[in-house]
Amino acid sequence: MSTVDEIKERFSIIEAIETYTNVDLSKLKTTKKQFNICCPWHNDKTPSLTIYTKSNTWKCQAGCGGGDVINLVSKALSISNREAILMLQKQLGIKNKVAAFEYSHWQNDRKIFRGFEETKDQIVSKLLHHRNLFNQAMKQVVSLEDRDRLVEVYHFKALIEKYLEELDCTDFDIQVATVKYLKPLFLEVIS
Ligand SMILES: [Zn+2]
Repeated sequence: MSTVDEIKERFSIIEAIETYTNVDLSKLKTTKKQFNICCPWHNDKTPSLTIYTKSNTWKCQAGCGGGDVINLVSKALSISNREAILMLQKQLGIKNKVAAFEYSHWQNDRKIFRGFEETKDQIVSKLLHHRNLFNQAMKQVVSLEDRDRLVEVYHFKALIEKYLEELDCTDFDIQVATVKYLKPLFLEVIS
């Protein structure tokens, strides 16, 4: 159950009116699903604030607004709905379950993300090291025979450029796929 639902379930519209407005409901003996009282927010000669006890909602027929128990509290105290939720949550002793859940998830994601970034950095440094070696080797090329001997070097250098590009791109899915593919090749080989 969400915090808002729990507030609505535990705090009735009647309690909210008694607590946060100057309307006196103590003499009211009604068990009706809906009834009218004088609206505290305008000069009300004929009771125009309808209270719906079944749905726990209210509506001023003269145009002061309406809604649930949270809207009523925010209207009565001239605060935002968000502030009313936080206030009622505190008052009713409702723990912020959603936030606690999100926080633990976020902590976990952050751990995974840090691990990923570390692995990616290690792979990038290996790729740069190999690219450097290949560049050195290619500088030694003076003849066509040399070139033929180094055909594999050209091939791997092109691959390294491709991997570096993928690891530097903004698409996180591509980065993850490349790290997954390269991790066993570069970091888990026992030499
Ligand atoms: Zn009104």
